[in-house]
Amino acid sequence: MPHSYSRLLGLLVVAGALSTSACQRRADSDSAQASPADIGFDRYKERFIDSLWYYNPGWASSQGFHKYDAVLFIPTAGRRQVENQAAARGLKELRGFAFDSLSPNNQTDYLMMVNQLRTTRWQNDTLRGWEWNPAQYNLSEPVAEILNGRYQPLAARLRSISSKINRATEYYAAAENNLRNPTKEHLELAILQNRGGLEVFGPALLDSVNRAELPAREKDELRARIETTRQAMQEYVHFLDKELRPQARRSFRIGPELFEQKFRYDIVASASADDVFRRAQAHKQELLQDMNRRATRLWPKYFAGQPLPADTLARIREVIRKLSEKHAPPAGFVAAVRQQIPQLVQFVDAKKLLTQDPTKPLVVRETPLYMRGSGAGASVSAPGPYDKGADTYYNVEPLDGQPAAQAESYLREYNDYTLQILNIHEAIPGHYTQLVYANRSPSIIKAVLGNGAMIEGWAVYAERMMLESGYAGGSDEIWLMWDKWNMRVTLNTILDHLVQTGTIAEPQAVQLLMRDGFQEEAEARNKWRRATLSQVQLSSYFTGYSEIMALRDELKQKQGKSFDLKNFNEQFLSYGSAPVKYIRRMMLR
Ligand code: ZN
Ligand code: ZN
Repeated sequence: MPHSYSRLLGLLVVAGALSTSACQRRADSDSAQASPADIGFDRYKERFIDSLWYYNPGWASSQGFHKYDAVLFIPTAGRRQVENQAAARGLKELRGFAFDSLSPNNQTDYLMMVNQLRTTRWQNDTLRGWEWNPAQYNLSEPVAEILNGRYQPLAARLRSISSKINRATEYYAAAENNLRNPTKEHLELAILQNRGGLEVFGPALLDSVNRAELPAREKDELRARIETTRQAMQEYVHFLDKELRPQARRSFRIGPELFEQKFRYDIVASASADDVFRRAQAHKQELLQDMNRRATRLWPKYFAGQPLPADTLARIREVIRKLSEKHAPPAGFVAAVRQQIPQLVQFVDAKKLLTQDPTKPLVVRETPLYMRGSGAGASVSAPGPYDKGADTYYNVEPLDGQPAAQAESYLREYNDYTLQILNIHEAIPGHYTQLVYANRSPSIIKAVLGNGAMIEGWAVYAERMMLESGYAGGSDEIWLMWDKWNMRVTLNTILDHLVQTGTIAEPQAVQLLMRDGFQEEAEARNKWRRATLSQVQLSSYFTGYSEIMALRDELKQKQGKSFDLKNFNEQFLSYGSAPVKYIRRMMLR
């Protein structure tokens, strides 16, 4: 499930990156390029991050940085002006550094910092989500982050929460004041999420207050603030539902111009959004042709004596259905994953695809109870940037407790073929391996601002690279299933573009995903909903993947016989989680 991990991966990529400043110093003095410019720039990065956290206290809490937990900014016009001024100041400070005298690691950091500051201004002045997206306002999320952050004692966390919600009424009043002509889709989402968010201020929080070691006076104050916050949230929901709804006429489609800009800020690709869209359409046709070729070859093996369907899509669908029957038993699912990890390690070594670090093994475990039920069957989790040295885990959710029909449907999706692709993607040499490399060039900037398209693109590229190297025998079966898997990220890009810059309606979108993507209706309808609520994010997987493939082709062309896959992989990963565009610049010079 490559789609639900961006948040987890935010944490993941960051793991260990900051854990020791000694490590950072060693890295700098070891490299011959540790110039005075780099030393000065490293100091500036610390300040930059502190300022980033100061202006984004909720984001900071979610990364395990708790200095600004107690801070809540009221989202007024004055506040946006202050943010823009801070961004302008940051850009001016960055211009004071001589880019060319910085190390490659710092140069990529520099470019990411510039992009971050420009993005802030663009969001405030041009995209203006604060005006049309009511779901931007929700106090329950930052409060839940603080409450669940276990690294501080309960009393300290509750004090932070008490300060944070002290101005809840003002916060929601500013939200109501900002909003005009929202989209109906984001309005519905805001109602749902704020209503749901009331739970954060419910009995569990009050229990914590009762149990905490705080003076009675502080407890009373906090209980009163919790009540006020609940009222403010209910009033906000009422406002959205009764007053704002008639004005909710804005289209959820941001249109071609804003889409192209958002693509530039969020994805940071070499190609334009339009180019990537065309690339995805061409790739879709290639995938369908490849699937047809393989399904046709496989037909007699699985359907001996039965006539080959004339309709190629039906042919592919039948073979996929047949192959999906081969899967682990519910009780053996975790064991199947556990067994594959050493095989992946071995294959990567044997084929010399990249150097692995045997001192940092990935620990496969059953997903802890408190993390279950999110729908993510497998995920990688690593300690956050501000807590030290713990293991990295590959969480796999056991299926034996699930209703039989549900487990069966899940196992058909993660059958013997796609399970291998999933493990490559999530673990080796996908996300987990990328993380190990990223941590070798420790960068607070890449830990915090890591580029999602690069991270997801690498994991998708890793799947393909493994199959190209002959993993799973390079059989028609595994390639056909990879094609289907890859079709999902390809169609995500196509759908994102058609929804946000075009006029496609739900029935056509669902039909596209079911027919050309071989998806179930439920998955297709969820995807439609996601495509109306987010912009550009759905394009990140395919964009990152195709940019890495394009870079590899470019280097193959340039280097001819001397091109070496291992060198390519290792050099690519050595820059940390920077956008492929910046890595390309470093690798081509
Ligand atoms: Zn992924
Ligand atoms: Zn079955």
